Amino acid sequence: MNPSAGVVERRNFIGGCFVASARQFPKLSPVDGSIVAMVHEADAALVDAAVAAARGAMRGAWGRTGATARAECLRRIADGIEARFDDFVAAEVADTGKPVALARRLDIPRGAANFRVFADLLRATAQDSWFLETADGRGALNYAFRKPLGVVGVIAPWNLPLLLLTWKVAPAMACGNAVVVKPSEETPSTATLLAEVMRDAGVPDGAFNLVHGFGPQSAGEFVTTHPDVDAITFTGESATGSAILRAVAPTVKPVSFELGGKNPAIVFADADFDAAVAGTAQSVFENTGQVCLCTERVYVERPIFERFVAALAARAQAVQLAWPHTDVPDAMGPLISRAHRDKVLSYFDAAREDGATVVTGGGTPTFGDARDAGAYVQPTLWTGLPETARCVREEVFGPVAHLAPFDTEDEAVALANDTRYGLAATVWTRDLSRGHRVAQQMECGLAWVNCWFLRDLRTPFGGAKLSGIGREGGAHSMAFYSEPVNVCVKL
Ligand code: NAD
Repeated sequence: MNPSAGVVERRNFIGGCFVASARQFPKLSPVDGSIVAMVHEADAALVDAAVAAARGAMRGAWGRTGATARAECLRRIADGIEARFDDFVAAEVADTGKPVALARRLDIPRGAANFRVFADLLRATAQDSWFLETADGRGALNYAFRKPLGVVGVIAPWNLPLLLLTWKVAPAMACGNAVVVKPSEETPSTATLLAEVMRDAGVPDGAFNLVHGFGPQSAGEFVTTHPDVDAITFTGESATGSAILRAVAPTVKPVSFELGGKNPAIVFADADFDAAVAGTAQSVFENTGQVCLCTERVYVERPIFERFVAALAARAQAVQLAWPHTDVPDAMGPLISRAHRDKVLSYFDAAREDGATVVTGGGTPTFGDARDAGAYVQPTLWTGLPETARCVREEVFGPVAHLAPFDTEDEAVALANDTRYGLAATVWTRDLSRGHRVAQQMECGLAWVNCWFLRDLRTPFGGAKLSGIGREGGAHSMAFYSEPVNVCVKL
């Protein structure tokens, strides 16, 4: 396919240079279906070149860059993102259709913050050191130092493109690794701007490489199966994680996986009602429900169930399916693509077949303008579904929630934990003892009490069960992206 005139092109970045490829694909706007960019798809040869450039950087200038210089480098990258803040916002909004206010508040600031957090941690991570007694009385000094893994393959999703990609790139580079990054085919743009920032920040050639493309039989698979890639860090669907796990088995690569969720919220009758409604609305509809941490199951104590459903429905009906640049309260963008919309709509059908009462939504809006070619859906709430229904068991990844009443704390805990996923849970109650007690019983990686999405970036992040392998965040990331070497010196 030839690039359309005037449409921006997103190229690969290999060994410090932007590289075109013979094959390109169009990235379509989820707002109106127009072409946002032509993306240069990396074939196996280009992925080989990217891995070779990364390996060369490890043997060369990047491998010789000490921790202090790496920390300074990370800070220059953060400065570079902030200096081009509006460019990053525009690129993220063009790819995803998300409200500009959301990209300005969340995606781009966190992209820069990820580099600053790991720059700071680089100088503050303790190392193991022990004095060993020996029979001759002279002793030995036994210590472990950490060294980079080598070449790390970073495979990122489309929902929070820059935020999630830098969440892995920053600690990987802080630890001294070279990276080969494969952003989602749906969101090539901010990753490409990040390559420009890397170049302008003086990052040694080959330390950061970018390859565009899809998953199977494309750049994603070429990276994960590459024999000279030392580790894979991946965020995406659980089924994709499973496929990658099989793909890395022959080369025994360490993996860090942040996967899907089917996250519950438990609302007790003693909760601050308005805060619980507002917090649950945010956790269901933020980013059009396309955050791995979004709530898709809401269990409400029976005395307040009807009132809570009505209040959440009112919030859903206040949501405005706006153009991304319109500054309106309660704005919500489209889903990422028509293909993802088809998947979400198939769950709307499944809910009806399984006997749901559609409290609100359940369809697509009609605008009478170019947005009719986009990927919008209505915010949707269901009641009356059995816990065995597909919409209760499977991750929808849209602005949807199933609501059901409960009578006892034990029942709420059992309902919340009755899932093969284990990423996050939220508890709303004024009784803090109960908040701690229930949070500790959640079979998941993150439990919030009376809040959602609030987190210090140094704390562990990740999921249990189908929701992931390992934890990232702070020292947990530093531990994954480096490996200890044990040295014992006889004195
Ligand atoms: P996805 O699994 O479809 O794709 C993620 C990335 O993997 C993309 O870059 C894709 O091209 C690549 N990919 C796909 N198949 C591959 C293969 N066989 N080999 C190598 N790479 C492959 O996920 P998505 O649709 O982009 O993102 C949404 C999913 O991500 C949801 O399930 C969501 O819950 C999950 N997610 C999890 C977290 C978390 O931290 N746990 C965060 C965000 C999103």
